[in-house]
Amino acid sequence: MSTIFSKIINKEIPTDIQYEDDLCIAINDINPKAKIHLLIIPKKEIQNINSADENDQEILGHLLLVCKKLAVDLKISESGYQILTNIGEGGGQTVMHLHFHLLSGNAVTL
Ligand code: 5GP
Repeated sequence: MSTIFSKIINKEIPTDIQYEDDLCIAINDINPKAKIHLLIIPKKEIQNINSADENDQEILGHLLLVCKKLAVDLKISESGYQILTNIGEGGGQTVMHLHFHLLSGNAVTL
């Protein structure tokens, strides 16, 4: 089922897209939990890691490499950052379209 992220990807809702390529976009989180808080979102509608399969290997690897590239661009790769994905309601997922949170500035402690 489509979510607000599909509307953002399809440019139906204007958003400050920080990065875009054929497979994904990166945007600033509307409600940042850290000094830097980006969302890296595949253009393909995948609900979360549970619904990903072997056909999504390239996308999943790509998303992580884009996180790394953005961390370098934002000059946080040396100081450190977090990549986080929530899975399902019990895992804290509120938007049911796969995304990685890229966080830096005040670490979420586990
Ligand atoms: P989740 O809780 O599913 O892991 O993360 C969803 C994230 O999407 C939340 O951190 C929330 O602030 C963010 N978010 C929800 N709606 C929008 C929106 O319309 N625009 C942006 N930029 N972020 C959103």
